[in-house]
Amino acid sequence: AKRVYLFNEGNRDDRDLLGGKGANLCEMTNLGLPVPFGFVITTPTCREFFENGNHLPNLLEQEYRVALDLVEKKMDARFGDPENPLLFSVRSGAPISMPGMMNTILNLGLNDAIVEGLAKKTGNPRFAYDSYRRFIQMFADVVMDLDGAQFEREIERYKHAQGYQSDIDMSAADWRAIVEIFKGIADFPQDPFVQLRKAVEAVFLSWHTPRANVYREMNNIPDSLGTAVTVQAMVFGNFGDDSGSGVAFTRNPSTGEHTFFGEFLFNAAGEDVVAGTRTPQPISTLQDRLPEVYQQLDETQRLLERHYRDMQDIEFTVQEGRFYMLQTRSGKRTGRASIKIAVDMVNEGLINEKEALLRVSPEHVEAFLHPMVDPAAKKDVVATGLPASPGGATGHVVFSADEAVEVARGGRPVILVRRETTPEDIHGMKVAQGILTELGGMTSHAAVVARGMGVCAITGATGLNVNIEAGTATTRDGHVIRRGDVITLDGSSGEVMLGDIPKTEASSSDDFQTLLSWADTHRRLKVRANAETPEDARRARELGAEGIGLCRTEHMFFDRERIDLMRAMILARNKDEREPYLQKLRVFQQEDLLALFKVMDGLPVTVRLLDPPLHEFLPHGEEDVVELAKRLGRSADEVREAAASLSEVNPMLGFRGCRLSVVMPEITRMQVSAIIGAAIEAIEQGYQPYPEIMIPLVINVREIRLIGEIIDSSIRKMLKEKSVSLRYKVGTMMETPRACLGADRLAPEVEFMSFGTNDLTQMTYGFSRDDAGRFIPDYLENKLIEHDPFVSLDQRAVGRLMRMAVEESRGANKNIKYGICGEHGGDPRSIQFCHDLGLDYVSCSPFRLPVARVAAAQAQV
Ligand code: ADP
Ligand code: MG
Ligand code: MG
Repeated sequence: AKRVYLFNEGNRDDRDLLGGKGANLCEMTNLGLPVPFGFVITTPTCREFFENGNHLPNLLEQEYRVALDLVEKKMDARFGDPENPLLFSVRSGAPISMPGMMNTILNLGLNDAIVEGLAKKTGNPRFAYDSYRRFIQMFADVVMDLDGAQFEREIERYKHAQGYQSDIDMSAADWRAIVEIFKGIADFPQDPFVQLRKAVEAVFLSWHTPRANVYREMNNIPDSLGTAVTVQAMVFGNFGDDSGSGVAFTRNPSTGEHTFFGEFLFNAAGEDVVAGTRTPQPISTLQDRLPEVYQQLDETQRLLERHYRDMQDIEFTVQEGRFYMLQTRSGKRTGRASIKIAVDMVNEGLINEKEALLRVSPEHVEAFLHPMVDPAAKKDVVATGLPASPGGATGHVVFSADEAVEVARGGRPVILVRRETTPEDIHGMKVAQGILTELGGMTSHAAVVARGMGVCAITGATGLNVNIEAGTATTRDGHVIRRGDVITLDGSSGEVMLGDIPKTEASSSDDFQTLLSWADTHRRLKVRANAETPEDARRARELGAEGIGLCRTEHMFFDRERIDLMRAMILARNKDEREPYLQKLRVFQQEDLLALFKVMDGLPVTVRLLDPPLHEFLPHGEEDVVELAKRLGRSADEVREAAASLSEVNPMLGFRGCRLSVVMPEITRMQVSAIIGAAIEAIEQGYQPYPEIMIPLVINVREIRLIGEIIDSSIRKMLKEKSVSLRYKVGTMMETPRACLGADRLAPEVEFMSFGTNDLTQMTYGFSRDDAGRFIPDYLENKLIEHDPFVSLDQRAVGRLMRMAVEESRGANKNIKYGICGEHGGDPRSIQFCHDLGLDYVSCSPFRLPVARVAAAQAQV
């Protein structure tokens, strides 16, 4: 198959073949935009390279040399010709964008003879030697695997010796001297074709650098994709004062505002902007100094946005007043921005509602719900920078990524403070609450990565002097922030504050509500909340809940006064002794449920019967034991012994769930009486309660019959006494493998089934939910499992149990409603699965509801 494509041979649909960057360079070429010409080596070639034991396929070089000849013709210059040299950039680009994760080599094709030719041809020896030293530096770093920092150190040392302040002071002779020093460090090939071959190999190899691996893992990008290599004629932003490089977004990537947003550095190569080593100027300076170039840029960005129908992130270079496009892609954006842009674009007629829904990632919806620094709070601002990624964050200051990981592992929030960040810092950025850098703009590595992760960040805090070695950050007025100090970042305003500043809870906006309402019209799955308190239930309704999918009744017994009653009830020696305590508990339970039914007026409320092992309620401290003994009128020893008798070796597989109802049916009777009592009361007050009583941890139909009879007889009796009619359901939780495997037998006895995927996962894997944290990280690291099965549903095995259960029970009872109420009910991937499975609803914690609504809509459209 063809391995090499010229820029006029591909288009935007060739992402898989040519990588995103290559495909878009082709598309822009076809659009007639000024793109320096070049060719792309395909991603299947990368896979061939790896299968070949890291060797390029035999005929590849022949093939790309043909393409190269054509590029030479088009550019009217020749690769390896000192008289009229053509230089290349060799760029990586995967089918899915991985900004800055893989390697790029610029100015390829220079050597000792050609640099002289370049100096002569351009009449700009300073530029020629600066380009040459950049090439050596990049080639040494990327291809030869030498430490890039030592080259920077040599430059610093040289400048220091000469008494120079910055790179601007460096003359042609100075860069030439630097080249000599670099040649002493890196023995690189002088033959341009050898350079090219080695660069292509290095780009392929960069697919497997640790930082690229981490990035793929974080973003669920398959390892098997591979990268394409783009070889493109160079243009030079470092040619002089009418040259420069810029990065821009067609809309504001932080707020989503429809304003062109960019940054530019005069007399600089693009790498200088992206690396964040110099703080760039706003794009308006380009408008002031080179208005015609700006005009062209502006037309181009409008054209690209209309063409791609999405916000674009573009890279461009100006050489001697001429404008060149080097890249365009869909721009990374904050949650806030993604929602605003999606809604705006529907209003502008660029996209439709369904497309808008697909433009917003569940992570973005979540980021939108991030806490913000309370605008009303008193705050002591000690530095300001650029508002690179919104939200408020407080934590202990650390100065390295490793330290961030260490402190975070100890359970403390961290703020990672750096001069700038590089892809080597990813693991630290991932665990940080916030990121603060002294250098870099809105498009620097720190800013882009933080926005993608939804982590609060401030970049370009130039008033701050960060000294990594000393572990200090000194503010302009001399305050020293040290390692471990607590600071707060406001990523929305760019303000850095000392101490822990109060934050407001997640916010909302009209655009957000609009998008959610579209999600509601386009989804089939219903969403419910896991909630016990009226406050949570109210919040759930505000966030779109269509009922409660899981009310854990035990949570209603944990407060101080009630837990005492609970303990007394549990430790009672017999039924008679237990009864008065049960009566009191019933009163509380009924009150709570009444409140819940009122908030959820007209909507289903799934009330689960008592579930946890009883000893979870028992006193643990000596003081508690003594107090309880006094209350029960028994000796402390007796209480201690009674408690000990309830302790279990393996409580999660022990005396819990519906087994409690089997052994102590009086508890179940009490709970049913509270549920129905509350419902009757609600009806009397004019509400429409809709209880669904759920039996947990069932293994077979006999349990359901036994407990169902207890439930039904209580209900019949109560309703008859009050002569009211009530809509209610009785169903079961599906959370043991046995229940799933025998679902057809359970089906005739229930009206709903709700998958309790936490327990179902625990029992399918034999991984204790409470202890798996110990080894799951190692399982992930060693790729023994792909995801934490407690976070994202294991579709293969747990999902298969669910599928069997649904299919077989539906065959036996067509009227059953199906739901899910484990943690997975709020996980977008799991929601997609539940949709495909044909469940009726998902239930999750109230804060996850917006994510669930959007994910459910995305599953449908
Ligand atoms: P990344 O994928 O990390 O963005 P790129 O392949 O875009 O890497 O290269 C990084 C930078 O190198 C670009 O932003 C651009 O400024 C510069 N660059 C790449 N190709 C060229 C070229 N042909 N001429 C001039 N500069 C280039
Ligand atoms: Mg780029
Ligand atoms: Mg359970």
